[in-house]
Amino acid sequence: MAELLHRIKKRIRLPAPLFKLLNGGKPSFECPVCHYHGPFRDVNSFAGRRRHGECPACGTLERHRVQYLVVTDILRTLDVSKMKMLHFAPEPFFRNFFVSRFGQYETADLCMKGVDYHVDLQKLPFKDATYDFIFASHVLEHVPDDKKAIQEIRRILKPGGIAILPVPIVCEKTVEYPEANPHEAYHQRAPGLDYHEKFKPFFATVETRTSETLPEKFQPFIFEDRTIWPTKDVPLRPPMAGPRHIDVVPICRA
Ligand SMILES: [Zn+2]
Repeated sequence: MAELLHRIKKRIRLPAPLFKLLNGGKPSFECPVCHYHGPFRDVNSFAGRRRHGECPACGTLERHRVQYLVVTDILRTLDVSKMKMLHFAPEPFFRNFFVSRFGQYETADLCMKGVDYHVDLQKLPFKDATYDFIFASHVLEHVPDDKKAIQEIRRILKPGGIAILPVPIVCEKTVEYPEANPHEAYHQRAPGLDYHEKFKPFFATVETRTSETLPEKFQPFIFEDRTIWPTKDVPLRPPMAGPRHIDVVPICRA
Protein backbone atom coordinates (compact mmCIF):
# COMPACT_ATOMS: atom_id res chain seq x y z
CA MET A 1 0.00 0.00 0.00
CA ALA A 2 2.80 2.43 0.94
CA GLU A 3 4.67 1.57 -2.28
CA LEU A 4 1.47 2.08 -4.31
CA LEU A 5 0.88 5.48 -2.66
CA HIS A 6 4.49 6.45 -3.37
CA ARG A 7 4.11 5.51 -7.05
CA ILE A 8 0.84 7.45 -7.37
CA LYS A 9 2.43 10.50 -5.70
CA LYS A 10 5.38 10.28 -8.11
CA ARG A 11 3.17 10.07 -11.23
CA ILE A 12 0.56 12.71 -10.44
CA ARG A 13 1.53 16.38 -10.47
CA LEU A 14 -0.55 17.42 -7.53
CA PRO A 15 -1.61 21.07 -7.10
CA ALA A 16 0.84 22.86 -4.80
CA PRO A 17 -1.44 23.01 -1.69
CA LEU A 18 -2.16 19.25 -1.89
CA PHE A 19 1.49 18.44 -2.62
CA LYS A 20 2.47 20.47 0.45
CA LEU A 21 -0.09 18.66 2.61
CA LEU A 22 1.11 15.19 1.53
CA ASN A 23 4.83 16.03 1.86
CA GLY A 24 4.77 17.69 5.25
CA GLY A 25 7.78 15.67 6.44
CA LYS A 26 10.10 16.98 3.73
CA PRO A 27 12.35 20.04 4.12
CA SER A 28 10.71 23.37 3.35
CA PHE A 29 12.01 26.04 1.00
CA GLU A 30 10.89 29.35 -0.45
CA CYS A 31 10.45 30.15 -4.15
CA PRO A 32 11.91 33.59 -4.94
CA VAL A 33 9.75 33.79 -8.08
CA CYS A 34 6.22 32.99 -6.83
CA HIS A 35 6.86 33.18 -3.03
CA TYR A 36 5.54 29.64 -2.38
CA HIS A 37 6.73 28.21 0.96
CA GLY A 38 6.99 24.46 1.49
CA PRO A 39 8.57 21.28 0.12
CA PHE A 40 9.77 21.22 -3.49
CA ARG A 41 9.19 18.40 -6.00
CA ASP A 42 11.89 15.90 -6.94
CA VAL A 43 12.76 15.92 -10.66
CA ASN A 44 13.46 12.82 -12.75
CA SER A 45 15.81 13.43 -15.69
CA PHE A 46 17.90 11.38 -18.11
CA ALA A 47 20.81 11.67 -15.68
CA GLY A 48 18.94 10.48 -12.57
CA ARG A 49 16.80 12.03 -9.85
CA ARG A 50 17.25 15.55 -8.48
CA ARG A 51 15.80 16.04 -5.02
CA HIS A 52 14.06 19.33 -4.09
CA GLY A 53 14.40 20.53 -7.71
CA GLU A 54 11.07 22.04 -8.73
CA CYS A 55 8.77 24.60 -7.13
CA PRO A 56 5.35 22.84 -7.13
CA ALA A 57 3.51 26.14 -7.48
CA CYS A 58 5.23 27.81 -10.47
CA GLY A 59 7.39 25.00 -11.87
CA THR A 60 10.74 26.83 -11.68
CA LEU A 61 13.78 24.56 -11.42
CA GLU A 62 17.06 25.05 -9.55
CA ARG A 63 18.68 26.87 -12.48
CA HIS A 64 15.69 29.20 -12.92
CA ARG A 65 15.79 30.24 -9.26
CA VAL A 66 19.57 30.76 -9.32
CA GLN A 67 19.45 32.74 -12.58
CA TYR A 68 16.42 34.75 -11.44
CA LEU A 69 18.18 35.82 -8.23
CA VAL A 70 21.44 36.74 -10.02
CA VAL A 71 19.77 38.50 -12.98
CA THR A 72 17.40 40.46 -10.70
CA ASP A 73 20.44 41.61 -8.74
CA ILE A 74 22.29 42.73 -11.92
CA LEU A 75 19.25 44.48 -13.41
CA ARG A 76 18.77 46.54 -10.25
CA THR A 77 21.94 48.47 -11.14
CA LEU A 78 21.02 49.09 -14.83
CA ASP A 79 18.50 51.27 -16.65
CA VAL A 80 17.33 48.46 -18.92
CA SER A 81 14.37 50.48 -20.24
CA LYS A 82 16.86 52.02 -22.70
CA MET A 83 18.63 48.75 -23.51
CA LYS A 84 18.35 46.28 -26.38
CA MET A 85 18.41 42.63 -25.44
CA LEU A 86 18.72 39.33 -27.30
CA HIS A 87 17.37 36.15 -25.68
CA PHE A 88 18.54 32.82 -27.11
CA ALA A 89 16.32 29.73 -26.76
CA PRO A 90 13.80 31.80 -24.78
CA GLU A 91 12.20 29.96 -21.87
CA PRO A 92 8.60 31.22 -21.31
CA PHE A 93 9.38 32.20 -17.73
CA PHE A 94 12.35 34.44 -18.59
CA ARG A 95 10.71 35.72 -21.79
CA ASN A 96 7.93 37.28 -19.70
CA PHE A 97 10.46 38.55 -17.17
CA PHE A 98 12.68 40.28 -19.75
CA VAL A 99 10.03 41.58 -22.14
CA SER A 100 8.41 43.66 -19.41
CA ARG A 101 11.73 45.27 -18.47
CA PHE A 102 13.91 45.86 -21.54
CA GLY A 103 13.33 48.75 -23.97
CA GLN A 104 13.90 46.44 -26.94
CA TYR A 105 13.60 42.66 -26.64
CA GLU A 106 14.38 40.13 -29.39
CA THR A 107 14.57 36.33 -29.44
CA ALA A 108 16.64 33.84 -31.43
CA ASP A 109 17.12 30.11 -31.77
CA LEU A 110 18.28 27.57 -34.34
CA CYS A 111 14.86 25.92 -34.79
CA MET A 112 12.46 26.90 -31.97
CA LYS A 113 9.07 28.17 -33.17
CA GLY A 114 7.90 31.69 -32.30
CA VAL A 115 11.31 33.42 -32.16
CA ASP A 116 12.31 36.59 -34.03
CA TYR A 117 15.40 35.08 -35.68
CA HIS A 118 16.34 31.54 -36.69
CA VAL A 119 20.13 31.66 -36.43
CA ASP A 120 23.20 29.50 -35.93
CA LEU A 121 25.12 30.77 -32.91
CA GLN A 122 28.38 29.90 -34.64
CA LYS A 123 27.60 32.34 -37.47
CA LEU A 124 25.28 35.14 -36.38
CA PRO A 125 23.75 37.47 -39.01
CA PHE A 126 23.81 40.52 -36.69
CA LYS A 127 26.14 43.53 -37.01
CA ASP A 128 28.94 44.11 -34.50
CA ALA A 129 27.90 45.85 -31.25
CA THR A 130 24.12 45.44 -31.72
CA TYR A 131 22.98 44.41 -28.23
CA ASP A 132 23.40 45.68 -24.65
CA PHE A 133 22.37 42.44 -22.98
CA ILE A 134 22.39 38.80 -24.12
CA PHE A 135 20.95 35.84 -22.22
CA ALA A 136 21.53 32.24 -23.32
CA SER A 137 20.86 29.63 -20.66
CA HIS A 138 21.72 25.95 -21.25
CA VAL A 139 22.53 26.64 -24.90
CA LEU A 140 26.31 26.43 -25.34
CA GLU A 141 26.48 22.76 -24.30
CA HIS A 142 24.47 21.99 -27.48
CA VAL A 143 26.74 23.94 -29.88
CA PRO A 144 29.51 21.94 -31.64
CA ASP A 145 31.99 24.86 -31.83
CA ASP A 146 31.18 26.66 -28.59
CA LYS A 147 34.31 28.86 -28.81
CA LYS A 148 33.07 30.24 -32.13
CA ALA A 149 29.64 30.85 -30.57
CA ILE A 150 31.19 32.70 -27.61
CA GLN A 151 33.24 34.81 -30.04
CA GLU A 152 30.07 35.64 -32.00
CA ILE A 153 28.16 36.60 -28.85
CA ARG A 154 31.02 38.92 -27.88
CA ARG A 155 31.09 40.42 -31.39
CA ILE A 156 27.40 41.44 -31.36
CA LEU A 157 27.60 42.83 -27.82
CA LYS A 158 28.08 46.61 -27.42
CA PRO A 159 31.12 47.87 -25.48
CA GLY A 160 30.28 47.47 -21.79
CA GLY A 161 27.44 45.08 -22.68
CA ILE A 162 26.63 42.01 -20.58
CA ALA A 163 26.20 38.37 -21.62
CA ILE A 164 24.77 35.85 -19.13
CA LEU A 165 25.72 32.39 -20.40
CA PRO A 166 25.01 29.59 -17.89
CA VAL A 167 25.44 25.92 -18.83
CA PRO A 168 24.68 22.83 -16.72
CA ILE A 169 27.78 22.20 -14.60
CA VAL A 170 27.98 18.41 -14.19
CA CYS A 171 31.62 17.60 -13.41
CA GLU A 172 34.94 19.02 -12.22
CA LYS A 173 36.65 19.36 -15.61
CA THR A 174 34.78 19.85 -18.89
CA VAL A 175 34.56 16.70 -21.03
CA GLU A 176 34.20 17.25 -24.81
CA TYR A 177 32.16 14.49 -26.49
CA PRO A 178 33.27 13.05 -29.85
CA GLU A 179 29.66 13.50 -31.01
CA ALA A 180 26.38 14.83 -29.62
CA ASN A 181 24.65 12.48 -27.19
CA PRO A 182 20.98 11.96 -28.20
CA HIS A 183 20.11 10.62 -24.72
CA GLU A 184 21.33 13.87 -23.22
CA ALA A 185 19.25 16.24 -25.39
CA TYR A 186 22.17 16.27 -27.89
CA HIS A 187 24.76 17.75 -25.55
CA GLN A 188 28.17 18.15 -27.20
CA ARG A 189 30.01 18.15 -23.91
CA ALA A 190 29.74 17.78 -20.14
CA PRO A 191 30.56 21.29 -18.87
CA GLY A 192 32.68 21.34 -15.73
CA LEU A 193 33.48 23.81 -12.96
CA ASP A 194 36.22 25.10 -15.29
CA TYR A 195 33.81 25.95 -18.14
CA HIS A 196 33.83 29.72 -17.49
CA GLU A 197 37.54 29.73 -18.47
CA LYS A 198 36.34 29.47 -22.08
CA PHE A 199 34.81 32.96 -21.82
CA LYS A 200 37.91 34.71 -20.52
CA PRO A 201 39.80 35.17 -23.84
CA PHE A 202 36.82 37.01 -25.32
CA PHE A 203 35.51 39.30 -22.57
CA ALA A 204 36.95 42.18 -20.51
CA THR A 205 35.70 40.56 -17.29
CA VAL A 206 34.11 37.22 -16.41
CA GLU A 207 32.46 36.98 -12.99
CA THR A 208 30.84 33.80 -11.70
CA ARG A 209 28.09 33.64 -9.11
CA THR A 210 27.37 30.25 -7.60
CA SER A 211 24.64 28.63 -5.52
CA GLU A 212 26.84 29.19 -2.47
CA THR A 213 26.42 32.99 -2.75
CA LEU A 214 22.61 32.70 -2.55
CA PRO A 215 20.32 32.13 0.46
CA GLU A 216 19.79 28.39 1.10
CA LYS A 217 16.08 29.00 1.74
CA PHE A 218 15.65 29.37 -2.04
CA GLN A 219 17.14 25.88 -2.63
CA PRO A 220 19.74 26.97 -5.21
CA PHE A 221 21.67 23.66 -5.16
CA ILE A 222 21.49 20.50 -7.29
CA PHE A 223 20.78 17.51 -5.03
CA GLU A 224 21.77 14.66 -7.34
CA ASP A 225 23.64 11.39 -6.87
CA ARG A 226 26.43 11.72 -9.45
CA THR A 227 28.37 8.76 -8.11
CA ILE A 228 26.13 6.60 -10.37
CA TRP A 229 27.69 8.17 -13.51
CA PRO A 230 28.63 7.10 -16.11
CA THR A 231 25.35 5.40 -17.06
CA LYS A 232 23.98 4.05 -20.34
CA ASP A 233 22.36 7.42 -21.07
CA VAL A 234 25.31 9.60 -19.94
CA PRO A 235 28.25 7.36 -20.85
CA LEU A 236 30.88 10.13 -20.84
CA ARG A 237 29.93 11.95 -17.65
CA PRO A 238 32.52 11.19 -14.98
CA PRO A 239 31.31 10.39 -11.44
CA MET A 240 31.30 13.25 -8.94
CA ALA A 241 31.33 12.85 -5.16
CA GLY A 242 28.85 14.40 -2.77
CA PRO A 243 25.05 14.65 -2.52
CA ARG A 244 24.84 18.41 -3.23
CA HIS A 245 26.29 20.34 -6.19
CA ILE A 246 26.54 23.99 -7.13
CA ASP A 247 25.04 25.78 -10.10
CA VAL A 248 27.03 28.63 -11.68
CA VAL A 249 25.96 31.82 -13.48
CA PRO A 250 28.76 33.39 -15.56
CA ILE A 251 28.43 37.15 -16.11
CA CYS A 252 30.57 38.24 -19.05
CA ARG A 253 31.19 41.94 -19.69
CA ALA A 254 32.47 43.22 -23.05
ZN1 LIG B 1 7.56 29.12 -7.46
